[in-house]
Amino acid sequence: MELCLRNDLVIQCNICGKVHVIDKDSLDVNTYSYERQMGAEVEYDFDGECQCDNCRNWLSYSVRGYEYPVGCLNYDSYECRGGQFVQPPTVEVRYFEFDYDAYEEDYIYSEVCTARSNIERVLDNNKNIYNLTSREFEELVAEVFKKQGFNVTITPATRDGGCDIIATHSVGGLSYMILIECKKYGKKHKVGVELVRSLLGVQTDRKANKAVLVTSSTFTRDAKEFADRQNQLITLIDINDLLRMMRC
Ligand SMILES: [Zn+2]
Repeated sequence: MELCLRNDLVIQCNICGKVHVIDKDSLDVNTYSYERQMGAEVEYDFDGECQCDNCRNWLSYSVRGYEYPVGCLNYDSYECRGGQFVQPPTVEVRYFEFDYDAYEEDYIYSEVCTARSNIERVLDNNKNIYNLTSREFEELVAEVFKKQGFNVTITPATRDGGCDIIATHSVGGLSYMILIECKKYGKKHKVGVELVRSLLGVQTDRKANKAVLVTSSTFTRDAKEFADRQNQLITLIDINDLLRMMRC
């Protein structure tokens, strides 16, 4: 099971009053878990930001849901800066059995085509990267690594155990695994050290050779210094590195 948002977010801009409908699948999803008396409590964070196309005001919004005990929605909360929710967001529990057969070949093929055309669009005008959904951004990153010779698997949303893409490479019969986490953030929203630290935890836990954090934004100085101290275990790829890789 997982927690998810029941509806798209409907937000009214505080400055000009324009109403924006935010696709719930465009939100960034992170999960955190805490040990409690009746087992783990899992926090789901749904975050996003966009600029009002009418008055250029920035809207940022986040919805939190807490699963505790397992399988139950304990409570949810939400906040919005720069605007207001027209209707309160609702978090709900979704039960599912992820079925890998759903990845039929033609489906994979269409994802690859979309990723390729998104790469073209972004190379054409870099700003287009901010119009991608989080999932499209992951697919684009996966395609970039594939072009570099990796076998890539995109993990199911929110079931990802802390990474979005698993990329493997086989060198002389030895296989090399890297875990890739993608953060599609707005230009001004830098990726902080906390995310790098938690990715290092995932890398250690999964015994991967390396973890890579890719963002459409840039990293804070703390994040870069922390990554530098990890002796090649973590690589940070910011928007400029990513554009360079896309051009290859
Ligand atoms: Zn506005």
